[in-house]
Amino acid sequence: MKKILTGLLLITLIFSQTSCSEDEFTDSIFVEKSVDKTAFDKWLDANYLEPYNLDFRYRMQDAGSNTSYNLVPTKLEKSEEMAILAKYLWFDVYGEVVNEDFLKYYGPRMIHLIGSAAYNPNQRTRILGTAEGGIKVTLYDCNQLQADNIAFNNEYYFHTMHHEFMHILHQQKAYPKEFETLSAGYYDPMYWQERDDDSTPQEAVIRDHSQYAPLGFVSAYASSQPREDFVETISLYITKSDDWWNELLRQAALPGPNGETMPGTGAGIIEEKINICKKWLLERWDINLDSLRQNVRERQLHVNEAVEKGKAEIDSYK
Ligand SMILES: [Zn+2]
Repeated sequence: MKKILTGLLLITLIFSQTSCSEDEFTDSIFVEKSVDKTAFDKWLDANYLEPYNLDFRYRMQDAGSNTSYNLVPTKLEKSEEMAILAKYLWFDVYGEVVNEDFLKYYGPRMIHLIGSAAYNPNQRTRILGTAEGGIKVTLYDCNQLQADNIAFNNEYYFHTMHHEFMHILHQQKAYPKEFETLSAGYYDPMYWQERDDDSTPQEAVIRDHSQYAPLGFVSAYASSQPREDFVETISLYITKSDDWWNELLRQAALPGPNGETMPGTGAGIIEEKINICKKWLLERWDINLDSLRQNVRERQLHVNEAVEKGKAEIDSYK
């Protein structure tokens, strides 16, 4: 059966020559703009620029956008919500679970919001986010943010933030080669999207994982190549619900799409991959993955309050 794969996610990583390991946290590298600052700009200065030396760009800039795509800017309301939620579900998490300085040293120096999706019609995929050289994270399709729909936001934004950030971390300290051996022979950089289920929404708890989970992958995109597998495994482990995860493991214990039976089953391989990720995060970064997961899940229950609180803070700058 020919699949229509318009709703697929693609999260890319653009490696650059720039080394981010030597990027010291010093005075801001960004020159003050001469335009009058809005209340939101002032909130961004207080919450991103001053603590993290991070330029949060919500006004789309041609110079920093991928001109191969037809892109539109993010609406102001969505930009505000995205800035509030990125801080709440990403920056504040690391501040609490690791330490306050962690993202000051290892976080991106720029977050760029794009209102629309970047479609690749030939592959029938779309880009959700990019991480460039450990410096810049771009988040796409931000006009679709639904502040009160956590499953949707997890799938399209919060999972993407953790995905991109893990790319930044493994660019600095490589993950164990052992990880790549567990599903060796089953990575498919060209046709991974054919393994995805297009019959249910991506964020649905019950999805058809049958084309990739029995091979030891947590998503179709994870099956594209090892480095995507590594960051997908971590970011989905952090953001997905227990029900979603249990359903993935249930299907992963079944034979593969072509009758493959992996050693220890796909579920065993996914568990083994998680253990490698946990060990790497703990030993190389002093990060407890389960604490990170627990913190994010607790915060996910209070997203609406966080948005309200953030908007009140922005208003206080008026
Ligand atoms: Zn990626």
